[in-house]
Amino acid sequence: MPRINLRGVDKSYGSNSANAVANLNLEIGDGEFMCLLGPSGCGKTTTLRMIAGLEHLTNGEIQVGARVVDSVGQGVFIPPEKRQMGLVFQSYALWPHMTIERNTDFGLRLRNTPKAEREQRVTDVMKTLGIEKYRDRYPSQLSGGQQQRVALARMLAVNPEVLLLDEPLSNLDAALRLEMRAELKRLHNEFKTTIVFVTHDQWEAMTLATTIAVMSEGHLQQVGSPNDIYDRPANRFVAQFVGSPPINIVELRDGATSKLGKIASEYFATRHAELSGIGSVGIRPESIRIAGPDTPVPQGALGGKAEITGVLPTGGSWIVELSLANEKLFMTTHQSPEIKTGDRIDFFVKPKALHVFDAQGNRLAD
Ligand code: ATP
Repeated sequence: MPRINLRGVDKSYGSNSANAVANLNLEIGDGEFMCLLGPSGCGKTTTLRMIAGLEHLTNGEIQVGARVVDSVGQGVFIPPEKRQMGLVFQSYALWPHMTIERNTDFGLRLRNTPKAEREQRVTDVMKTLGIEKYRDRYPSQLSGGQQQRVALARMLAVNPEVLLLDEPLSNLDAALRLEMRAELKRLHNEFKTTIVFVTHDQWEAMTLATTIAVMSEGHLQQVGSPNDIYDRPANRFVAQFVGSPPINIVELRDGATSKLGKIASEYFATRHAELSGIGSVGIRPESIRIAGPDTPVPQGALGGKAEITGVLPTGGSWIVELSLANEKLFMTTHQSPEIKTGDRIDFFVKPKALHVFDAQGNRLAD
């Protein structure tokens, strides 16, 4: 049984406004680390708040374990404090007048947990998160990252069935974010808590999630493992949202006006007639190769001639800009490129690496 099940969920904030979330069907498995990923305003926070019970649904229902916690049809609504969930938001709001220990202890006191059990639990969680040494300090005496850990400790102390996190790392600098990500992943492995994590950062989602749910304009676009989402994007939106530098998209319908489009259209017309005239083809930057004496163009590859118009080092890897007439293709490589700006080269892409989308932008079967 899934830990959380959203069925036909709609949310609209006013009778005239478009749905912030529309017909959302999503199953979140027990022990899963689910990232809700999408651009600003796509409905991620609204979804999290509905799971928490901080927003009422407009339609549909949400079940947590065996219990329906919200159902418009059945007229059921379980309030947030009875849902056994821990919430950590961007601003983690510790009590400034309480020590770190008292902050961590807070939820357990509210639940009237016996003293001995409380002390044991708080000590265990503080040790796990490496904040035991700060137990007598006040929040203002800790760094942002340390405060973030206290916020997490406070949630974990009450042993929630589900942990709901809304961009909890966004106030941290890059190094701390990385550290906290590793920490969250470790905590998840250790506690096996079901986690729902909202982020607009694809990299964060790729590194943390066991499953990613990609949303756009209130609609669910794809649910899958990080590899599924990257290697088999369900549509153009997902393909373009995930990946950096972004996927190259070559329009085929307007192929006649574009050099790349012509190359690709011809490729599909001669090899896969059934696909000619379809919408577009996506090519990940790392799938593009430059042909050379040791790297002949393989049979069946899509390729052409281009000029190198830029070689940008990014620290251990390079982004290479290829130009065909006025169009650009971006490729990435981890090997120091032997080419330089102004060189004319032959490039190619293996057929397996092509993502083909129909006129509506949906992925065509491989
Ligand atoms: P962000 O990453 O910017 O937080 P998000 O994906 O979490 O965005 P939501 O906060 O869920 O998006 O917002 C979804 C839509 O609902 C947006 O169009 C937003 O303007 C609207 N919305 C959110 N909260 C309210 C509210 N309280 N009243 C009216 N509209 C709202």
